[in-house]
Parts: sequence; C-alpha cells; structure tokens
Amino acid sequence: MFENSPFYHQALAQLNSVEDKIDLPKGVFERLRVPKRTITVSIPVRMDNGETKMFLGTRVQHSLTSGPGKGGLRYSPHVEAGEVTALAMLMSWKCALVNLPFGGAKGGINCDPAKMSLGENERLTRRFTQEITPFIGPNTDVMAPDMGTNEQTMAWIYDTYSTMTGVNCPQIITGKPVAVFGTLGRRTATGFGVVYCIEEAAKECGLKLTNSTAVVQGFGNVGSVTAQALHDRGAKVIGIADVSGNYIRPSGFNVPAMIAHMEKHRTLEGFENIAADKVTKEQFFAQQCDIMVPAAMEMQINGEVARNLKCRILAEGANGPCTADADVHLRERKDIFLIPDILCNSGGVIVSYFEWVQGIQMYFWSAEEVDNKLQQLIRRAFLTTSQFAKRRGYDMRTAALCLGVFKVANEKHQRGLFP
Ligand code: NAD
Repeated sequence: MFENSPFYHQALAQLNSVEDKIDLPKGVFERLRVPKRTITVSIPVRMDNGETKMFLGTRVQHSLTSGPGKGGLRYSPHVEAGEVTALAMLMSWKCALVNLPFGGAKGGINCDPAKMSLGENERLTRRFTQEITPFIGPNTDVMAPDMGTNEQTMAWIYDTYSTMTGVNCPQIITGKPVAVFGTLGRRTATGFGVVYCIEEAAKECGLKLTNSTAVVQGFGNVGSVTAQALHDRGAKVIGIADVSGNYIRPSGFNVPAMIAHMEKHRTLEGFENIAADKVTKEQFFAQQCDIMVPAAMEMQINGEVARNLKCRILAEGANGPCTADADVHLRERKDIFLIPDILCNSGGVIVSYFEWVQGIQMYFWSAEEVDNKLQQLIRRAFLTTSQFAKRRGYDMRTAALCLGVFKVANEKHQRGLFP
C-alpha cells in the first residue's frame, strides 16, 4: 500500500508545508493527498528459457485536472506503489509550475532490466502496454522514460499502442527515438535544464561558473549531461558518483572521457582516473564545492548529510533527493541556494511537452528551436519562483511548491469535484 512508503510521506510533508499558505478550501487539499486513479496490471511474460514469469505493473494518475497525465515509466526491482505515487504527485506540481497543460502521473514495473534479455524486455513492455491501453491515450495519460527504460522502450510502447488502436499515434508517448517521431534535444533536456537553472542561481549568488567546482551524484542521463554541460562552461567537476561508488578528484575529472567509458562499460568502475579517490557517501556530500547536484535517486540527502553540505548551490537533478528531515536544515541554511527538483529537473518534461505538440501537429522543430524554447520556459519558471520567494520571504522549495500546488488546487476548486 502506498500509505506506508517513506517517500510518499516525504511528498505529503511537502504538500502539507504549503497548505496554510494557499487560500483555498481545505477539501481541495484532501483530494490532492491521494491519487485520482491507480491501475495495477499483471504481466505474464514468456522468458527465454521457456518459463512464464509474472510481473506487476502500476500506473498512478495523481491528477488529470490540468490535462493528460504526464510522467515516466520506471523499471526497477525496488519499485513500489508509494514511490510511484510520490513521483506522480511531484509531476503534478512540476507540470503546473512550468505551466504545461498536463496533469501528474508515474508508472513502474517490478523487474530487473539488467538481468533481462532484449527480447524479454520487449515482451514485457508490449504486454504491459496492451494491459494499460484502456487507461492511457494522447489526451488521457502520456508516458515517458525514467530509470531503467529508454528510447527503445518508448518505441515499443508507441508501436504496440498504435497497433492495438489501429491508428498511428506517436503522441501516445514521449522520449521516442528521433527516427520514429521523437524530438531533437530530448536526451539532453533534463541535464541542460539543470544547468540553465544553475546559471540563473549563480547570477543571484554572484558566482561565476568558469573555474567554479561541481560535484554530481549519478552519472546516467541527468548526471552525465549535467556534468558535461558544467564542464563545457569551464566548471571543474571534482566529484562524481554512480552505483559503483563515490569518487573525488580535486584537480577535476575528464568528463568527456568518463562519458566514453560509461557508454562502453555502463558504470564508472574501472575508469583509470578514479580508483585512488573512492570515498563514502557522507564524505562525498560533505565535499567543499560551489555546486552540488544530486542526480541519482530519491532520499539521498537526510538531515545529517544536509547539515554537512559545503556547497553554495544545491541543484536537485533527481526527484526527491532530500528527505523531509533534510528540508528542515536546508531552510535554516541561508548559505545554500536550493534549486528544488520540481523546477530544477523540469527540462525533461518541458521537452516532452514539445515532443507531444510536434507529434500532434506532425511538424518538427530544429534542435536550436527546441533548445531556445526550453531555455525560455525554464528560465521564466526560475525567475517567477525566485521573485515569488523574495516577495513572500519564502525559501525556494516553499515558493515552487506554493506556485505548483496552487495552480492544480485552484483548477480543481474552480471546476468542481469531477476532475
Ligand atoms: P539513470 O538510470 O540514467 O541514471 C541513474 C544514475 O544514478 C546511474 O549513473 C546510477 O549508477 C546512479 N546511481 C544509482 N544508485 C546510486 C547510488 N546509490 N549512489 C550513487 N549513484 C547511484 O537515471 P536518470 O534518468 O539520469 O534519472 C536520475 C534521477 O533524475 C531520477 O531521480 C529521475 O527520476 C530523475 N529525473 C530524470 C529525468 C530524465 O529525463 N531522465 C527527468 C526528471 C527527473
């Protein structure tokens, strides 16, 4: 049950923290605490050895008030209902904060993609899509990649849904390969968005990115693109972590070489420059630096870790990397400029929105056009949030949550009890 999940309680604590700051009837917040709809499907898959294995797939549609649900699909052995519900809730606030015509949703399948063959992965994905088809649609719920899924997964979902409905429907899903109606700029969108937010925060802090120091946890899609973009701006990336360990190198890492290593070996393990500098997670987050980017997974920074942070900017590339306990400390730490997740990593859903629009119109944009529009939307959301924070005397997370939650709550309030 999702109610028992610590991550769900963390998301709930964030919602509760802004309830009294928003002048709307209490009943509307009751509705926001629980998802509108949760669909669980069983997925029988014929494995390569001839046996049939059962998997469970979940799609949580937290709110469909502002438009079709939008949110990733996660494949992980640890995925659970509370995590997916919390992530769906964050998607509602995120889409609202950046003013996208979407509600919030998220999905997950309990499986270990690293231990599955390509064929098994394809059969799992296609059967899940078939089971979930009555509940999704380009105007109902639009999925996207998340941890453990990728462009190929999205292509299979697009193909299965189109085959099932008999209509070519690329806008059923975003994060597709460019060759099958994907958009240019989607792969780099989240990491670039993180860095556009860091640029705005740096202006507010009087920090120059050239010769600044950065530490990035996670070297997957978000972490590696962020590290590369910071490196390209002259920042020295002195800390990188992935599932194989936490690595510090005060003279700075050769980020492009690490990306090349990752593409070949799937982890940083064995990269020639890093072996001597392996540290614990606590030491990693306590590293003195200008910019700290948690870009791996949720609940990485607890109260203790937050107290020991020595950065100027904390940019939440991951969803929910700070626990509620950490938030208490971060609110007191005026020396740290926090860019909250629903703003910081919104580049991915912004460009997903562009992909959806292009799919509906069958009219495709250049990479430059995508990037210009991404910058326009995310920089505007950053400024709106920071100006609101200053006007009200709020920290950045409270300001972002107030803006995001208010939009969804107000739409529910004005429309009535159905949506
Ligand atoms: P990914 O699977 O591509 O990469 C995850 C990275 O984290 C990998 O390098 C992995 O080795 C590392 N990692 C896993 N466990 C770790 C641990 N215990 N310590 C250190 N590193 C660890 O995933 P991603 O797409 O980059 O997503 C990362 C985070 O960003 C997630 O929270 C995701 O929900 C969020 N996010 C992703 C996108 C997107 O467009 N990909 C958009 C918004 C938010």
